[in-house]
Amino acid sequence: MEHNPEAPWYRRLHWQVLIAMVLGALVGAQFGEPVADRVGWIGDLFMKLLRMIIVPLVLTSIISGVASVGGGRSLGRLFGKTMGYYVLTSFFAAFVGLLMVNLIRPGVGANLTGADRQELPELSTPDSPVQLLLDIVPQNVVQAAASADMLALIFFCIVFGAALSTLPDKTREPLVQFFDALFQVMMNLTSGIIKFLPIGVFALITRMVATTGFDAFRPLAMYALTIFSGVTIHFLFTLPILLIVLGRISPRIHFANMREPLLIAFSTSSSGATLPVTMKVVEEKVGVSNKIAAFILPMGATVNMDGTAVFECAGALFIAQALGFDLTIMQQGIVVLVALLASIGAAAVPSAGLVVIFIVLEAIGLEGPDVNVIVGSMLAIDRPLDMYRTAVNIFSDSCGAAIIARSEGETGVDTEIR
Ligand code: ASP
Repeated sequence: MEHNPEAPWYRRLHWQVLIAMVLGALVGAQFGEPVADRVGWIGDLFMKLLRMIIVPLVLTSIISGVASVGGGRSLGRLFGKTMGYYVLTSFFAAFVGLLMVNLIRPGVGANLTGADRQELPELSTPDSPVQLLLDIVPQNVVQAAASADMLALIFFCIVFGAALSTLPDKTREPLVQFFDALFQVMMNLTSGIIKFLPIGVFALITRMVATTGFDAFRPLAMYALTIFSGVTIHFLFTLPILLIVLGRISPRIHFANMREPLLIAFSTSSSGATLPVTMKVVEEKVGVSNKIAAFILPMGATVNMDGTAVFECAGALFIAQALGFDLTIMQQGIVVLVALLASIGAAAVPSAGLVVIFIVLEAIGLEGPDVNVIVGSMLAIDRPLDMYRTAVNIFSDSCGAAIIARSEGETGVDTEIR
């Protein structure tokens, strides 16, 4: 990945993106409408590239993540605890996202598309959690993949990965290697596309400023504040409370032991790239056994993403607000559940969260050119948010490893700052 502390500042992606934003704003303000058409297609092209990778990236990311645990039925209890922890924390995270978006209401009254508001179409949200559950189970997996029915695909990949992990080593290993290799290909492809992020951001910001002027920046700043506060609540309150209540672990000690991977996650925006350091530190400094760390962390890096869950939920509701939709409680509840699933589907690479937000949007029936324009402007300011949510993603993994190690009777966990 792009994390290379030796690289000069202008080679780092976040600086490039920042410069692209400033340049885009200047060009858009200077040349107005005509330039919007000239460069707009570059932004659209970039968004299409991102959408192109959704299906294969999600598919390989989940299968290789879930299947990596291996070891068959003897690890069933550990698997159950781990999944329980992942779902619980991701649910809390998505719920905090929901609360913050209703509190701050960043999208209300925003005009991000430059278009006059037209009649709003009906949203095709599932009517109830039961309906959502029925929709999640595919009738036909191939059709689900072909029509990018992501929820059904995510469900299938989780059960497929779990079934794969129960095979005897001889049959399991070649398959796991196969899916791992495919996943590596998709990660490389994603990183390759992300290299063009500054160009995409330049085009998207130019078009945004050229069509709506600087009006769009206020709702975008409010949106960033919403994500930032949601992720912070999860980081500073929810996870520490879980550490204390479930693991009797001092959050201060755990945080101090984890500072190195936290910083690396922050600067790489990739849980995957941080994983080797997370594993080393969780074993050597936090004091979790290799058995538990090697079981929980690789799967957690791709499956358990709390910061991303906050983002998926709050981001999708922001778009709905900005387009003038007033979602019912039931529809918002559905967004929470789908955001949780989307965070499971997101791969551990930069900007993956933004790629899978389409899953949440499509699940509530939000699609079309206006939606693309808004996601495009969110993409333009996504980098700092991605850095922060990635750090929280890996922090949740390490908290999970510590809590589960404690519950398995390990006594050396976070006894001191090492
Ligand atoms: N970059 C995040 C990660 O690797 C995923 C995301 O974009 O939310 O954990």
